[in-house]
Amino acid sequence: MLRIPCPWCGLRDESEFRYRGDATRRRPAAEAGIDAFVAYVYQRDNPRDWHSEWWLHVAGCRGLLRVVRHTVTHEISLVESASGVQGAEQPR
Ligand SMILES: [Zn+2]
Repeated sequence: MLRIPCPWCGLRDESEFRYRGDATRRRPAAEAGIDAFVAYVYQRDNPRDWHSEWWLHVAGCRGLLRVVRHTVTHEISLVESASGVQGAEQPR
C-alpha cells in the first residue's frame, strides 16, 4: 500500500488520495495539429523509473500535490503543493 506524506496532514494512506495524472505532460499549442492533440490525450508512457504525478488529497485537506514516485518501488522522493510548482500545467 502506498503512503503519501501530505505537507499539511502528514503521512496518509493512498486511499485518501485520487491520482490526477502525469505532472510532466504539457498541452500542445492550439496550432499544433490533430496528431499532437491525439498524442496528448491518449498516449501515455509507462516509465520504470521516477515519475512526477498529480495527487489530490480528497479525504483530507483537498490539496493538489505533485508527488515524485518511483514506479517500481513506490518510494517517494518529493511531495510539494501544486501551487509551488513553476510552469506546471495542473489537472482539471
Ligand atoms: Zn492533506
